[in-house]
Amino acid sequence: MNRYRFSLSIRKGSRAVGLFFILALTAGVASGQTQVDPETALRMLNAQQQQFEKGVVKVADNVFTAVGFHGANTSMIIGTDGVIIIDTLFGPSSATNAAEAFRQYSDKPVKAIVYTHSHGDHIGGASAFIGDEQPDIYATESFGSAEGVNQAVDPVKQKRNVRQFGRKLSPAESTNRGVAPAGTDDGDRGKGFLPPTVTVPNNGLKTTIAGVELEFHIAPGETDDAMFIWLPKEKVLFAGDNFYSSFPNLYAIRGTAYRDVLDWSESVGKMAALKPHVVVPGHTMPIRGQEAATTALTDYSEAIRSVYDQTVRGINAGKGPDQLAHEVELPEHLRDKPYLIQFYGAVPHAVRAIYSGLLGWYDGNPTTLNPLEPKLKAEKMAELAGGTQKLTEQMEAALAKNEYQWALELSDHVKWLDTADRNLARKVKIAALRGLASREYNAPNRNYYLSYANELESGQLSEVWF
Ligand SMILES: [Zn+2]
Repeated sequence: MNRYRFSLSIRKGSRAVGLFFILALTAGVASGQTQVDPETALRMLNAQQQQFEKGVVKVADNVFTAVGFHGANTSMIIGTDGVIIIDTLFGPSSATNAAEAFRQYSDKPVKAIVYTHSHGDHIGGASAFIGDEQPDIYATESFGSAEGVNQAVDPVKQKRNVRQFGRKLSPAESTNRGVAPAGTDDGDRGKGFLPPTVTVPNNGLKTTIAGVELEFHIAPGETDDAMFIWLPKEKVLFAGDNFYSSFPNLYAIRGTAYRDVLDWSESVGKMAALKPHVVVPGHTMPIRGQEAATTALTDYSEAIRSVYDQTVRGINAGKGPDQLAHEVELPEHLRDKPYLIQFYGAVPHAVRAIYSGLLGWYDGNPTTLNPLEPKLKAEKMAELAGGTQKLTEQMEAALAKNEYQWALELSDHVKWLDTADRNLARKVKIAALRGLASREYNAPNRNYYLSYANELESGQLSEVWF
């Protein structure tokens, strides 16, 4: 029995709500760092919900952030004769709601719009913020290079995206997306996007807009085209998606190209060095107070760096990704930080991403150079178990013992066997996926398990896939 304890404190407005959880990892075959008992998983995800509760937060005298109007945040800085908008949400409908909410604090015209990076949830609603005047729109030189995944694989990427975010889950199955609420209205994706008109050069930019001093710092991380925005007078920092309250999504299971983890850590380190009084994340609540904001950024940078360093050490010791994904952990002193709990990113996924990012798919073990093809391997496994029937019984026994991951792995053998009850294997897989999901507090994992189970149940997936 592996037990550990951590605290989760959620900063909401000026209140800090402390929640303490005793986590008892279920005995048996553990299958990830983010599996706890079902009640705890739900309680944690529900508590995280407060990080994106809808409302406008005043982060400084002239700075306001709208949280929870869609998946990401949008912010308004009030200047002398106009305002500056940082990020614009996903589409015009959510952005219109945020713009209206901002208007009670200022009805000055928008002088400038800034995109922290080019992900769709930050750029799609720009048109909703502008009136008669055309504002300048700032972005980095590499703006638009964010995705990094070849469009050739769009068909499968879209399916994986739907699963990761739980877009088709029923209300009863939905929790949230780790750093964003579930059930966002996504019908108008990108319809309010306005292209950048001012390019921030690679060495950054210092400027004054509507009497507000601003600094743009190039900061690759979640995307290569990211920057953070610094208000030197107010000491407010807009981090974009290189910081939010969750262990960062160093790899997205919807499928992404390698996100340079070292760059990400360094970019967050640069933010910490400015010792901000407030950090406004791309998602989740702002963190206020110089010590809290600076510590959060310092810890975040260190956490990313530590996962990278541990992985590289393991690689050089000859270890493969499967082993390292189970070995690498956040350092003890960072594990209970509320902004590093693995609600969105997951350490094991990050480890695998770093491995393949640095070395490609091959783990260096000649056994894996040419493994048996799945059907032949399944037949050999059945032979080893004493026949197809025995292997099927083992699969069912694993499910009965709540060894969900093992049940999944066995069902993936059974599905290949001509003489097996494939429908039974499918049912076991569905039940095991739901079992894993119930214990997950990592939202993408949980959403993916549940979505996939539903697809299997409704017969949307071919036999090869299940
Ligand atoms: Zn985002």
